[in-house]
Amino acid sequence: MRCNPKPMGQKSSQTPAARGVRVLPRKSRSTVGTLCLIFGLMSIACTQLTGYSQESGAEAEELDPSVGYTPKSPRELQRSLTKLQFDVTQNAATEPAFKNRYWNNKRVGVYRCVVCSLPLFESETKFKSGTGWPSFFKPIGKKSVATKTDYILFYPRTEVHCARCKAHLGHVFDDGPQPTGKRYCMNSASLQFVAKPAAEDGESNKTGDQTSDDQK
Ligand SMILES: [Zn+2]
Repeated sequence: MRCNPKPMGQKSSQTPAARGVRVLPRKSRSTVGTLCLIFGLMSIACTQLTGYSQESGAEAEELDPSVGYTPKSPRELQRSLTKLQFDVTQNAATEPAFKNRYWNNKRVGVYRCVVCSLPLFESETKFKSGTGWPSFFKPIGKKSVATKTDYILFYPRTEVHCARCKAHLGHVFDDGPQPTGKRYCMNSASLQFVAKPAAEDGESNKTGDQTSDDQK
């Protein structure tokens, strides 16, 4: 900002009114203060706006996956699923431990719902539980699976199903590893494993067969 243009060092015997000229720098300083205040308010407003847009983006990723999904008819389900896949996903049956496709699958990829193909779990969250079923410590997204309490074994368990098509997947327990402490104990029959492109040799069905072979 501009300083007082008048040369300094002139001792003045001026009246306070005449010294009003020297008030000018103070006005300049107050102008600077006002501008700083405006810029400060603008930067606060910008920060808040930026934060808001990020929150909006995060909310956008959490949309309910069942919105816009058309459920398959029982006939379509019977035609597209094996008997075991149908029994597990539609009637909450449980497949045999250690005699299922993915319990020991160590390949890198994504596990999708066998009914509607919604991505459910990533291989990075799979861990060795010793149960004989594929186990994960967290789902791929906060809204990819949903839960409810069942009493099939006469005590409460938390049943896990696909958030989009409601296919039964398995159960979740509180004895899993960190960072979540959860153990999502899933049925292979509810899942379809899709390897990541770098390791993918071909179509997903072929991958599934190869994965099955890996367990022998
Ligand atoms: Zn599904």
